[in-house]
Amino acid sequence: MDNLTVFTAKRIRTMDAGRPLAEAVAVADGKIVSVGTLETMRPWLDRCEYTIDDTFKDKVIFPGFIDPHTHFRMSGVFMGLTYIGPIDQQGPRGFNKGIATRDGVLDKLREADAALEDPDRPILAWGLDPAVQGGQLHRDELDSVSRTRPIWTVTYAPHVVVCNSPMLEVAGVDESTNVYGVERYPDGRLNGQFIERAATRIATRPVAKYLNEPGMGVEAIRALAKTAQQAGITATAEMIFGYLDFAAEWAEHKEAVLDPDFPLRMYLVPIEGRIRGAHGDKSPDFLLEMQQQNTDKLAFQGVKFVNDGSYPAMTLRLRAPGYLDGHEGHRGENPWEELVEVMLPYWKAGIQIHSHANGDETVEMTLNLLEELQRIHPRFDHRFTIEHYCISTPDQARRLKALGGLASVNNYFVHYRSLIHAEQGFGPDRAEATARLGSLEREGVVFALHSDFSLVLTPIHPLTAAWIAVNRVATDGSVQASGERIGVDRALRAITIDAAHILSRDHELGSIEVGKHADFAILEDDPYEVDPMAIKDVPIWGTVLGGKVFAADG
Ligand SMILES: [Zn+2]
Repeated sequence: MDNLTVFTAKRIRTMDAGRPLAEAVAVADGKIVSVGTLETMRPWLDRCEYTIDDTFKDKVIFPGFIDPHTHFRMSGVFMGLTYIGPIDQQGPRGFNKGIATRDGVLDKLREADAALEDPDRPILAWGLDPAVQGGQLHRDELDSVSRTRPIWTVTYAPHVVVCNSPMLEVAGVDESTNVYGVERYPDGRLNGQFIERAATRIATRPVAKYLNEPGMGVEAIRALAKTAQQAGITATAEMIFGYLDFAAEWAEHKEAVLDPDFPLRMYLVPIEGRIRGAHGDKSPDFLLEMQQQNTDKLAFQGVKFVNDGSYPAMTLRLRAPGYLDGHEGHRGENPWEELVEVMLPYWKAGIQIHSHANGDETVEMTLNLLEELQRIHPRFDHRFTIEHYCISTPDQARRLKALGGLASVNNYFVHYRSLIHAEQGFGPDRAEATARLGSLEREGVVFALHSDFSLVLTPIHPLTAAWIAVNRVATDGSVQASGERIGVDRALRAITIDAAHILSRDHELGSIEVGKHADFAILEDDPYEVDPMAIKDVPIWGTVLGGKVFAADG
């Protein structure tokens, strides 16, 4: 072992429960050689050349935070479109001001129409929040903006596309179209709404070329990675890889991520429908083949299924008594009764399955599905993960444990959305009990916290997710479902070692242990020691990735 670098710190929180505290960590070739104090690591220091780096002597070293569910590439593309969302937002192509009202949204679209010279170029707009901007858009409304120029809009959580009449024509959709999720007015006329992927793909096909403009993807991945790094993150998973163009996205990720100055490890989780479209029965083989190209920094990991709609766009599937306004929500691309057959080849090939389920009806269906997979072909340590797990019940947590499943939870909604959706969407009971982490903890289910950034209306900031998990405080200061709060240690595990487990990387990431990657979040204070209401305010100095230092302001 030549040349160790020894980082000293005010304190090191290892997240290794057996050896939780340290003051020095020795690193060589990007990996951890020893964790303890300068005295305890003497046997190494006596035998090796070493340098002591005391840059962090007044700081707290944590394992690098892990956000196991993000969408940098697609978000970056959407952030470059005409923005019609309600919140202020900093995108890779500049600042976007939030729009408070429905009329403001239509005015913004009129401005976009006036600004475009080419009469055939469509308006592409992103970011509507139906719960706070007066419900979904519809065709007649968009026709009032323009009856000649095609208009394509997508909600912030991109589960709903709405088009005007010229766009319907370009997409080749007419009254005879009969596809799940192509919606109609009560009188039977097409209303311009396309909900979930079987439908949205039809509306999106003609505009795909504008969403794949060269350079946009790499720029987006870099910009959003910087935002993540500033929040202390050293690893993320791209949960909808290959959605727009598998080959192009692979090239873009290699270009962005393998650059030594790129501050994150990234795990790419391909979206199943696209893989099957291209490779049919050979899809599991194709995924395993892609994994041959894995490196320490960029790797293929598992497969993703989307089986219902969105929490903020209110298209998830709810059990009785359903939505406040009586609508039903939507399933994903695959009819639920076909899912066992579709998933089985991946399950048998030993591939980890990430299965999106937002609503309690979908969680129930997913548990039945996992039970059936287990019955046909029993597996241990399969790490089948329910993604989002937003609306659930305590009995579902118990069943998830019994079936050996895991949960990757978007709990930001408890703070940012629970009050909105008590009034619009799910009603008070289910809105309050969004993200039942207390139930998961009581049943012993391993879970992680994620942001889904930037495809839902929340920030990417793991300490904020941990703060919400511990306090469950809504925007008005009220506590939401107090029994679903969890302790500080559990919350911090959910953004480090337990998140690594969910990405099947806990043997090399997620804690500061000998042999693991030297990936750290450098904090100005210790989240275990501060007032629990101040966890989100702990300043983040920067990160270390494989021993390389990245200052947040660098
Ligand atoms: Zn997602």
